[in-house]
Amino acid sequence: MQFCFHVPTRIYFGDGCVRQHMDEFSRWGKRAFIVTGRNSAKASGALADVVAVLDKQGIDWEIFDRIAENPSIEAVETAGVAAREFVPTMLVAIGGGSPLDAAKAIAALAVNNISADKLFDGGFTASPLPVLAVPITAGTGSEVTPYSILTDASRKTKRSFADPRIFPKAAFLDARYTQTQTREVTVNTAIDALSHAVEGYLSKRATPISDCLAVEAMRRFAGVKETLLTGSFSLSDREELLYSSLLSGVVLAQTGTTAVHALGYSLTYFRNVPHGRANGLLLAECLRFAKAAASEKVSVILRAVGVDTVEGLKDLMQRLLASDETYSDAELREFAALAMQTKNIANTPGDPTAGDLYHILRASLRVVQSE
Ligand code: ZN
Repeated sequence: MQFCFHVPTRIYFGDGCVRQHMDEFSRWGKRAFIVTGRNSAKASGALADVVAVLDKQGIDWEIFDRIAENPSIEAVETAGVAAREFVPTMLVAIGGGSPLDAAKAIAALAVNNISADKLFDGGFTASPLPVLAVPITAGTGSEVTPYSILTDASRKTKRSFADPRIFPKAAFLDARYTQTQTREVTVNTAIDALSHAVEGYLSKRATPISDCLAVEAMRRFAGVKETLLTGSFSLSDREELLYSSLLSGVVLAQTGTTAVHALGYSLTYFRNVPHGRANGLLLAECLRFAKAAASEKVSVILRAVGVDTVEGLKDLMQRLLASDETYSDAELREFAALAMQTKNIANTPGDPTAGDLYHILRASLRVVQSE
């Protein structure tokens, strides 16, 4: 047995954790640059809690609330300029995966006057500023990972950089903040988290500890899957989903993702399919592919999720996502080729070729004959 396990993030979980642990904010200086999206941080109540705590601690703050979904390299560059002008001592990221991932990039740009595309080659010397993360969706896991995933229009896909220095210093997980999410967002993000657990469990970089967490995350998902179908979530259902997402994030930090994410990026980039939904549409067929190389692990996954077969998982995803998108054959060939260029593919058991990925896409999505 040989492995390394590393999550340096201090995790606060539970009702009222931002206000209860306000001391955590003053550990990181006197100036906070808040990174968030347009609306949801406000609607969730998380922004009000954070601002109240900063004011109480005498911490000056400025807010950048222009992070859209799937943040672009240009968006973080703009925010980086604003951050350098404000000269913060910490960043507070509030939102789903997009503001959290963007904040990690901005934390580096705030102290390194470089163009944002340099981030991908590790082209920054000064240590990124501390990031404190407040997720308001249950799916990203970004609050406990060293990854920042941004959209690169020049490469027509998402690109990520990983650096242990961008692990958030602290994460505050309060399920009340996820209560304003719609059923659709809740389902999509829950499936993203499930996908992190499943892919992390199958990843060539899986470790004995990450495997324990991954299986537990899948079991927690299974416990609320019927509620995901109906959409009437109690606070404790929300808490289960947030906890499952957190565990999956810790897994992801060790293992990275695999072919599911690599392929899903194209659905999001070219067809605007929400990230978690994209993963859900591809998950079952990726699992079917993984059977040849990791049959034992596939059986464990199916048991943990509470389905009998890969077909059963596909049926569950279909009921949750009600997919009706159609694709052309040429699109699928391009998606397969683009996925081969991602770093995630190297983690995939069975070493899929472009041909294998194309078959996974064909089996997962509805294809119409091209004109
Ligand atoms: Zn994901």
